[in-house]
Amino acid sequence: MPEHFNLTLRSSHMLAPSVRHLSFARSDGAPLPYIAGQFLQIHFPIDGVANKRSYSVANSPGAELLDIAVSYVEGGAATALLSALLEGQQIEVSGPYGRFCLQPKDQNKRYLLIGTGTGVTPYRAMLPGLAQAHEERGIEVAVLFGSRNASEVLYAKEFEAFARLHPWFRFIPCLSREPRDCGWAEDRRGYVQDALSDLQPNVETDTAYLCGNPNMVDACFEQLKQAGLPVPKIRREKYISSR
Ligand SMILES: Cc1cc2nc3c(=O)[nH]c(=O)nc-3n(C[C@H](O)[C@H](O)[C@H](O)COP(=O)(O)OP(=O)(O)OC[C@H]3O[C@@H](n4cnc5c(N)ncnc54)[C@H](O)[C@@H]3O)c2cc1C
Repeated sequence: MPEHFNLTLRSSHMLAPSVRHLSFARSDGAPLPYIAGQFLQIHFPIDGVANKRSYSVANSPGAELLDIAVSYVEGGAATALLSALLEGQQIEVSGPYGRFCLQPKDQNKRYLLIGTGTGVTPYRAMLPGLAQAHEERGIEVAVLFGSRNASEVLYAKEFEAFARLHPWFRFIPCLSREPRDCGWAEDRRGYVQDALSDLQPNVETDTAYLCGNPNMVDACFEQLKQAGLPVPKIRREKYISSR
């Protein structure tokens, strides 16, 4: 059941020129049970009227702090709040919400995890769960991450380190505007949709997750349906504004 509680900002840094990583502790010290892939809602007033915005939890359950990554939107109300939040200050949240999670009953052989921008954060939270699923039933994973340029490939070092350690896990950044100059052999030019075609989605083996930009989610959804994946095997989280 979702709860209402406060979070205190403990630390933060910029992940990209307009994306802030924030780590919070629950202000009352209580634990926050959630499943990797779920999100919280941040509650705040705009001109005295109650408002809320959703943010995916960006780290796996069981950690001391809870991470989110906020992509700044020009003129955005939550952007104004979360970009100016100082260490020690509190925000009011509720959660956890959502079913964009790994399903214990899944029997697929491969996960195609597709995200743009901060839409990659649920996959960061899922990493330990994916490792467990690999141990239990030998799954393979491909993360397709769409961004415009090198500075926007969020958590790149972490995903790359995980991929180096786990040969069954592929991290495939898809750069639409400028390539990276980092020597990561999986880098592609273009959109995640192009890389998705190359992976040849297969109804027998694959379950897909799509997260982030609604246009990307819709385009990949159509592509996967055309490849024969049934709708229950295409799980979606669109980062639309809750206004
Ligand atoms: C389930 C879910 C999970 C989400 N998780 C995250 C997350 O982890 N990280 C994250 O950064 N965001 C996430 N979002 C989006 C987030 O909830 C807000 O919508 C976003 O941060 C903008 O809020 P804002 O108050 O700053 O802007 P608003 O005040 O809502 O919007 C300001 C203006 O910008 C436009 N706008 C809103 N969003 C965008 C956008 N993405 N691109 C361009 N223009 C926009 C609006 O139409 C409006 O004109 C998630 C959304 C959902 C539904």
